Amino acid sequence: SKKTLIAANWKMHKTVEEAVAFVGELRDAVGSPDDREVLLTPPFTALWAVRVAVSEAGFSLGAQNCHWEPQGAFTGEISPPMLKDVGCGYVLVGHSERRHIFGETDAMAQKKVAAVFREGMTPVLCIGETLEEREAGKTFDVVARQLQEGLGAVSKSDFPRVVVAYEPVWAIGTGKTATPAQAQEVHAFIRERLASHTDKSVANEVRILYGGSVKPDNVDRLMAEPDIDGLLVGGASLKASSFSRIVRYQ
Ligand code: 13P
Repeated sequence: SKKTLIAANWKMHKTVEEAVAFVGELRDAVGSPDDREVLLTPPFTALWAVRVAVSEAGFSLGAQNCHWEPQGAFTGEISPPMLKDVGCGYVLVGHSERRHIFGETDAMAQKKVAAVFREGMTPVLCIGETLEEREAGKTFDVVARQLQEGLGAVSKSDFPRVVVAYEPVWAIGTGKTATPAQAQEVHAFIRERLASHTDKSVANEVRILYGGSVKPDNVDRLMAEPDIDGLLVGGASLKASSFSRIVRYQ
């Protein structure tokens, strides 16, 4: 059955040297837990340098974004086969910063999810409503649309490997975490939608992560909710001291 997934999204932080040092510190702090999976998503520039240390520690490696084509005239872009080549097993897709700062659409997310699966890697589809959408009562509509479109090209056989990250935009980098009850409510809704796309047993296999101001002092309460299968951590993943406490949630 599924393993909890605790993921670090470093965003645009860390040099090669800092990234390598972090992996050693984290391994020393958490060992190699076998009941939970630890995923690190460094910037592209550090992926190759950390791959051996990450795999020796028993952690997983992922990228923060990709293009949907395998190669071509796309200056500045990185393709899924390139990410596989440097040791990635996961790719974040449709992170809210990609959507809101760089104009990524659900249609792009769908192509990226399919492209990541094509290389045998696992996409982490990030979804979540803005504060304006929440206040207008549109949270469930937004999340349902992002899921439906983002996963629209996933084959039946790939479906159980999908990872979904629910990150309410108003909770990202703001220090305003969703309450465990608010997160659970949306996670349960996501699980129900996944079941209607496939079936209940497949939906139960899918890991649904929560992200948005996860910190050492709120991690235990979030992880106690039945439909929260892991976390996607930004700011608090940058220091091994705080991220290791999050990995060791109880
Ligand atoms: P923070 O943990 O800094 O709020 O960021 C969350 C996030 O965007 C992870 O992908």
